[in-house]
Amino acid sequence: MQTQRKAFDVRNFVGGEWVEANGQQTEAVYNPATGEVIAKTPLSTKEDVERAVGAAEAAFSGWSATPVTQRARVLFRFKMLLEEHFEELRDLVTLENGKDAKDAAGEVRRGIEVVEFACGMPSLMMGETVRDVASGIDNVSWRYPLGVVAAIVPFNFPCMIPLWTMPVAVGAGNTYLLKPSERTPLCSKRLVELFVEAGVPEGVVNLVNGAHETVNAILEHPRVKAVSFVGSQPVAEHVYKTGTASGKRVQALAGAKNSMIVLPDAVLEKAVPNIVSSAYGNAGERCLAGSVLVAVGEKEAQDRVVEKVREAASSMKVGAGYEEGSELTPLIRDSHRQKVRSYVDLGEKEGAEVVLDGREVRREEGFFFGPTILDGVTGEMRVAREEIFGPVLSVVRVDTLEEAVAFTNGSPFGNACSIYTENGAAVRYWREHVEAGMLGVNIGVAAPMAFFPFNGVKNSFYGDLHATGKDGVRFFTENKVEVVRYLSEPASGEAVRLPQEAGA
Ligand code: NAD
Repeated sequence: MQTQRKAFDVRNFVGGEWVEANGQQTEAVYNPATGEVIAKTPLSTKEDVERAVGAAEAAFSGWSATPVTQRARVLFRFKMLLEEHFEELRDLVTLENGKDAKDAAGEVRRGIEVVEFACGMPSLMMGETVRDVASGIDNVSWRYPLGVVAAIVPFNFPCMIPLWTMPVAVGAGNTYLLKPSERTPLCSKRLVELFVEAGVPEGVVNLVNGAHETVNAILEHPRVKAVSFVGSQPVAEHVYKTGTASGKRVQALAGAKNSMIVLPDAVLEKAVPNIVSSAYGNAGERCLAGSVLVAVGEKEAQDRVVEKVREAASSMKVGAGYEEGSELTPLIRDSHRQKVRSYVDLGEKEGAEVVLDGREVRREEGFFFGPTILDGVTGEMRVAREEIFGPVLSVVRVDTLEEAVAFTNGSPFGNACSIYTENGAAVRYWREHVEAGMLGVNIGVAAPMAFFPFNGVKNSFYGDLHATGKDGVRFFTENKVEVVRYLSEPASGEAVRLPQEAGA
């Protein structure tokens, strides 16, 4: 793919039309590999949100009454269009986010899998029944959409994360408002265009660009029933507290600091490439990135794994996502690169040893940062506990698995944890004791499939029902539970008569 030269037009999509935002301010969108401005995101105001909510509200009665089989057919067409435009979407991800083609294709695929899951909405919407809870009385539950719902998404998976909610919420009969990251608005725009081409009626899907002011307008809007948020921990906490205080249902998926625990029996020739890919893939800008390597055992075993990881990381090819063979792609913004650098400086000050230093990466343009390893990190250091969200791996050395689990559980976060071993008893001990919602055994990025929940715990998640899987369907629906009996009784042996026959 070539660098994109033309600037993209970024607008809101409200009631079936692409419209200019009322807000006059904009935020620059960069190609992170070159630093070139490729678009400007309008920062929508309260009035823009009001218009979008109004359009979604007007569409709700028609869409929620559309048979679920017809809603599912729109999703099937959406899935086909996403497949047809797969490469285009992949390249848009690389352009606006910076990740390489393989990672970008992976996220588009993972997003499509949620659409496939949501195509089963006629089954997913099924309620439950028990007949004869008392004599002649049945108990039934029905699933209903909520109304107008919103999704607020981050920059790091600009195609997949909108697709975590869009097909599920819409398939369940809600009308939907998407607020993309102001740093990566292009994939969201394309997804909405394709959904419209698939036949979603006007007002059912709306898109409002913007940043915190737009988010706050959504949170305060009395007619938005539910908000699904994905982003950093402080913002997730703010969204959860503000949204629930105004009576909304909220799920807020937040930041992470994931350990990769390596036991002395790990199959290193296979584990090391996996560890390196978890730590440095997508430049470490993943909520499932393994950002702490916990080397367990005697010093010799610890040194062995750290040295192999250092060797593999130091030979990574730093380059643009659209260049053949790039292994370490740029960070999203220069300001973020400065933040990552300041964490490496901090680690050094806290007493860690920088055994691989990416601070002086040689690229003239773009927001690149080289692979970095901080060795000798301890649980008291901020670099062990705070999310850096860059290609920086902290190494913690411990003697036993118990200590590795205790270190991991000292984290305020609980998104994911991986273990590298062939020892089933060790795996069982770890699974039973570790505080993390997504677990990987010899897998560094423990991403659940679309039919499972994306399952962070502790400060990695605020709410009750997680995104995707059956949790996602429950989040976007509510039940009516009905107890039913009929009072007329046919004479014994006689078939039940229809009301008109009975003269009713
Ligand atoms: P972010 O919190 O900066 O932004 C996320 C969204 O919140 C964006 O749409 C943004 O416009 C909005 N926002 C930002 N600041 C706000 C404020 N002060 N008030 C209201 N809204 C605000 O996150 P990001 O940098 O785009 O994404 C990276 C973060 O997301 C990382 O912390 C990562 O771990 C997390 N993340 C978590 C998951 C998960 O499933 N747990 C998945 C992906 C990313």
